[in-house]
Amino acid sequence: TKAVIPIESLDSISTKSFPLCMRQLHEQLRIAHHLKHGGRLQYGLFLKGIGVTLEDSLRFWREEFIKIMDLDKFEKQYAYNVRYNYGKEGSKRNYSPFSCLKIINTNVGPGDCHGCPFRHCDTGVLKNKLIGYGFSHQVVSEMVELSKKTHFQIACSKYFDAIHNADVGLGINHPNQFFEESQKILK
Ligand code: SF4
Repeated sequence: TKAVIPIESLDSISTKSFPLCMRQLHEQLRIAHHLKHGGRLQYGLFLKGIGVTLEDSLRFWREEFIKIMDLDKFEKQYAYNVRYNYGKEGSKRNYSPFSCLKIINTNVGPGDCHGCPFRHCDTGVLKNKLIGYGFSHQVVSEMVELSKKTHFQIACSKYFDAIHNADVGLGINHPNQFFEESQKILK
């Protein structure tokens, strides 16, 4: 059985084991106390996939959102979607977390933080973000160049190696696979 990931560990785990797409959504949620629909869906399903329980997910989103809105508004407009992601509302389907292909091919509009940063981020923004995380200029250039050549998942593999200070060369096709492989290394 899969380990349960407590939401108290997400700040730390997001820097150690999340792919960049999810780290970015986590950071944005902490900064803005809100994510637009596409971000809530992409990040919410990822969290379910890594082993965050429904109860914890509700608490996680609630604690952020009520910093900028009434509890009542959260319960009426947003709690439904959290339960929906867990198959507890609407058609009660067990929705799967999105694959890289789905995320890379998604539509990202202005103000959206979802998608794949290697595909959707402006090059300058991507570069600054990665340098801000403390990676060497050489490693950052490699990731940016791969992104420019549309080798998004290979850039992501470089990112995996960079955060683990290793040379794994993992073929990445799913954010949850990224997370699981990372957890194996860290154990
Ligand atoms: Fe996320 Fe996949 Fe893009 Fe990596 S390649 S950042 S896991 S969507």
